[in-house]
Amino acid sequence: MSDKAPKLIDSGAIDALRSSLRGELLDPAHAGYHEARVVWNAMIDRRPALIVRCRNAADVAAAVSFARDHRLVVAVRSGGHNVAGYAVCDGGVMIDMSHMNAVRLSPSLDRAFVEGGAQWRDVDMATAPFGRATPGGLISATGVAGLTLSGGIGWLRGRHGLACDNLVAADVVTAEGRLVRASETENADLLWALRGGGGNFGVVVGFEFRLHEIPSELMFCAPIYPEERANEILPRWRDFMATAPERLSGLAEFSTIPSDPAYPEECWGRRVLALAHVYDGPAEEGERVIAPLRAFGDTLLDFSGAMPYCTIQTLYDAIFPKGRDRCYWKSTYLKGLDDEVIRDITSRLSQRPSDMTFASIWKFGGAMQRVAPDASGFGDRSAPFMLSLDAIWADASNDAANIAWVRDAWTAMQRHSTGRLYLNFPGLGEDASLVRNALGETTYDRLREVKRRFDPHNLFRMNQNISPA
Ligand SMILES: Cc1cc2nc3c(=O)[nH]c(=O)nc-3n(C[C@H](O)[C@H](O)[C@H](O)COP(=O)(O)OP(=O)(O)OC[C@H]3O[C@@H](n4cnc5c(N)ncnc54)[C@H](O)[C@@H]3O)c2cc1C
Repeated sequence: MSDKAPKLIDSGAIDALRSSLRGELLDPAHAGYHEARVVWNAMIDRRPALIVRCRNAADVAAAVSFARDHRLVVAVRSGGHNVAGYAVCDGGVMIDMSHMNAVRLSPSLDRAFVEGGAQWRDVDMATAPFGRATPGGLISATGVAGLTLSGGIGWLRGRHGLACDNLVAADVVTAEGRLVRASETENADLLWALRGGGGNFGVVVGFEFRLHEIPSELMFCAPIYPEERANEILPRWRDFMATAPERLSGLAEFSTIPSDPAYPEECWGRRVLALAHVYDGPAEEGERVIAPLRAFGDTLLDFSGAMPYCTIQTLYDAIFPKGRDRCYWKSTYLKGLDDEVIRDITSRLSQRPSDMTFASIWKFGGAMQRVAPDASGFGDRSAPFMLSLDAIWADASNDAANIAWVRDAWTAMQRHSTGRLYLNFPGLGEDASLVRNALGETTYDRLREVKRRFDPHNLFRMNQNISPA
């Protein structure tokens, strides 16, 4: 047997692990096992040997040490939204953080202390009633951990940056099973790496985020136009966004109106282009700012309106249910969005095999771009737009066609790309040079040094992996 092969696990060792835990140890015979291994992407069907459902940092340290000592692969799960399915492994130990979801605020309301397995809804529902928020993502069930550790692009990015830009400190269980603090004054290189370098450096058991004031209601903007008008509307959107205030963050999103009573029946099945934005400021001011976006000719529907932050944060939830759809997503940063780029996008989109497929053009700018490339493990942020090709389909027999469509379209778009991409929209993790390409050589090499310090044997490799220097 090689040094790296898993050791047979004797039942005594499993019993000892079980009795050391405050949380639960689930094996395949356990009633909750199958539910616990389900992640968001229905393509992912993996069976860990053991699932440790942790309750505290000591449980996490015990699980890490057990996996390391038995040379077992480790997967760490928070929200389970990672499209490549990194939250779950075949064989090995899945460290399930999802029951560690408590959120506490500082009485001065400038900080949120968030346990490592929380979802964004746990954070938003704890902070918004106090008129505070920290930038998260667009779906309330996405995990704080995965989203933050690889960046975190949401509605508040224009004024407050990415989720990782608001990470002030973190408590991390390392591959050695030690609990360490990462802050500006302790292990500052680890904090730098956690702001974009993914789950490579250990299991984050606690996050400390900076909080910002938010109004009781914000203006949500969502005029919906027919997809066939995209080549005419997208240039107008691009030109408008070039001078729009940075309080306005958003994306242009292609999708299909679901056959759902929440939408008028005559629109069911229509392919559409939504100009979805949030104005991070007084709602009345926001309503004036977004008016031109709602006036690019007749809309099919318009969901714009003033609403509380927590409502905005759950608007898309029903469209993205856990474990129902199969998906393959891949992104690329665009050098610009001239008319030729737009025509290339719409022409590729018209060839999609599945009508459930999304594609989004995210506008970057404001605070997220004021962070220097070497200030965080996220790397370069200078691209003005990101294109995300999000194939979604129902049936396994259509896997190959949908994956091929994304790969072909992604490859064709490379002539418009800066060459970088967003690691939270990762394909199926099949591309060995993906992480280096995404982050750039300088950031990648610096991350390898931090990886060498905290995980020299690459115990944490179910992620956008950085090999230790
Ligand atoms: C429906 C949907 C909507 C999305 N919307 C957005 C969006 O608006 N903005 C955006 O930026 N991204 C978005 N994403 C992408 C999302 O950020 C990534 O999928 C992210 O990886 C999800 O984090 P998670 O904790 O839910 O994932 P998981 O699958 O649980 O984990 C993801 C990765 O993080 C690691 N990890 C998990 N927990 C920890 C921890 N406590 N410590 C260390 N490592 C850990 C895992 O090992 C894995 O490698 C979306 C994804 C989906 C499916």
